[in-house]
Amino acid sequence: MVNQIQPIFILPEGTLRSMGKAAQKSNIAAGRAIADAIRTTLGPKGMDKMLVGSTGDIVITNDGVTILEEMDIENPAAKMVVEVAKVQEAEVGDGTTTAVVLAGELLKTAEVLLDKNIHPTVICDGYKKAAEKAIEILEEISEKVSSSEEDKLRNIAKTAMIGKNVSGGHDKLAEIAVDAVLHIADGSDVNIDNIKIEKKEGDAVNKTSLIKGLVLDKEKVHPSMPDKVRNAKIALLDAAIEVKDTETDAKIRVSDPSQLQAFIEQEDRLLKEMVNNIVKAGANVVFCQKGIDDLAQHYLAKKKIYVVRRVTKSDMEKLARATGGIIVSKIKELDKSDLGSAGLVQAKKLGGEDMTFVEDCRNPKAVSIIARGGTEHVVAEVERALKDAIGDLAAALSNGLCVAGGGAVEIELSKRLKEYADKLSGREQLAALAFADAFEVIPRTLAENAGLDPIDILTELRAAHEKKNKWAGVDVFENKVIDMWKAGVIEPLKIKTQAVSSASDAAIMLLRIDDIVSASKSGGPAMPPGMGGMGGMPPGMGGMY
Ligand code: ADP
Ligand code: MG
Repeated sequence: MVNQIQPIFILPEGTLRSMGKAAQKSNIAAGRAIADAIRTTLGPKGMDKMLVGSTGDIVITNDGVTILEEMDIENPAAKMVVEVAKVQEAEVGDGTTTAVVLAGELLKTAEVLLDKNIHPTVICDGYKKAAEKAIEILEEISEKVSSSEEDKLRNIAKTAMIGKNVSGGHDKLAEIAVDAVLHIADGSDVNIDNIKIEKKEGDAVNKTSLIKGLVLDKEKVHPSMPDKVRNAKIALLDAAIEVKDTETDAKIRVSDPSQLQAFIEQEDRLLKEMVNNIVKAGANVVFCQKGIDDLAQHYLAKKKIYVVRRVTKSDMEKLARATGGIIVSKIKELDKSDLGSAGLVQAKKLGGEDMTFVEDCRNPKAVSIIARGGTEHVVAEVERALKDAIGDLAAALSNGLCVAGGGAVEIELSKRLKEYADKLSGREQLAALAFADAFEVIPRTLAENAGLDPIDILTELRAAHEKKNKWAGVDVFENKVIDMWKAGVIEPLKIKTQAVSSASDAAIMLLRIDDIVSASKSGGPAMPPGMGGMGGMPPGMGGMY
């Protein structure tokens, strides 16, 4: 019998595989590439990116998560780093570039350790311990902020927006963001979904305004309804003002004209009754989530009631919070006590569109911001700037703690982490030290992006922190080291703790991978037989497709 060696295939043909160091290296390279792609946008002197979509649509921004979302990234390891930005965006709404740049740096320092033949597990353990300690240190060094300190809050808002190109509207936007958040904040409970941002191009950024109430992109249903209602008493209806059941398609047979007449009269009577209920309750404005019969519109118009129909559910909920009204689902049960109130409800044209403004609510728990800007791109960036500011303010108020930016907090953290690492032993210590070093990437990048010498700046920063000046950071406008807290560069603690935990989680997850098995893409060229087997693929083979 001839003894023939048969290769054994356990993976389907076309499967790509890379293992060990090669896998780690390629993951690290992909993660770092993502960080490198956005690091030039970090900080007040960061540059913007212009992203052109496949259909030719353009986005101009320096917002980390926006850039990464638009970039349509395919590499799976890179996607994990993009995830860092997404989590940061979802949890805080700002600090996305910081988090990704930090993740990239953690991978870079890990690579140095890997090259020294330190096992990934040891690096991961060291990183994990250091990350926990970092969050502890951050909490220790942070300062208090409360809703009564409006100056501090304005500084938080300005710091959030400083790199955004909003044509010098920073002060105005900061004021509006603070005002909006203070309205909707309920102690430390800040639900930013209660701030609605309505974008309208065609006017200066400084014309951005806060409406103490809600702006709806809907017009009144009947032209003869009033344009303005002062002292509005508002009914919020989750029911159609119609007789026919719109859900089912019923047919009615009539055998003589009088029956038809009776039917019409009956319908008319029911509609009148509904309108009377609304009038009786004392409403002079109605927001209806459903449809309204033409005849009912006519009756409502006759009663000088301002009516809007087909309002979305989420807008109905915001209206309830803004006006203090209760959403009623049976018109028959509408009562005076269900009505909300607003100083003014009016029809207004904005950017050529008919809108309804519900303004001057007494104690609105939902508000609207009308974001303005010369062009579509400016308005879009104004919206992102406002979202960053609002996110930061909410984060600051919800845990009441903040830190100084401009690299100050990162250097202080790095210094204290190094002191902690000294207490660890052997190789774990190396990993924790590497983790501590990684934080310097933030001040270094801030300096680089401002065209300053990062080595000089870092040396000066370290010296200042040695002298217990814990908020010493880099003033990128004046090219010197200053006290960032005094300069009003303040950020919520949450930005930093979230960045540390999501960046370190992503780095650790990537470092633990030592085997990448990728299924062949359907429709791609078939691999030569045998290539798809168990043999380690040389790095770079993935580029074959
Ligand atoms: P991110 O997406 O991480 O929020 P940004 O482009 O908004 O990125 O930059 C944030 C960084 O810029 C933070 O480290 C912050 O401390 C820093 N920064 C903000 N304002 C100033 C300032 N006036 N001077 C120096 N650094 C600043
Ligand atoms: Mg920011």
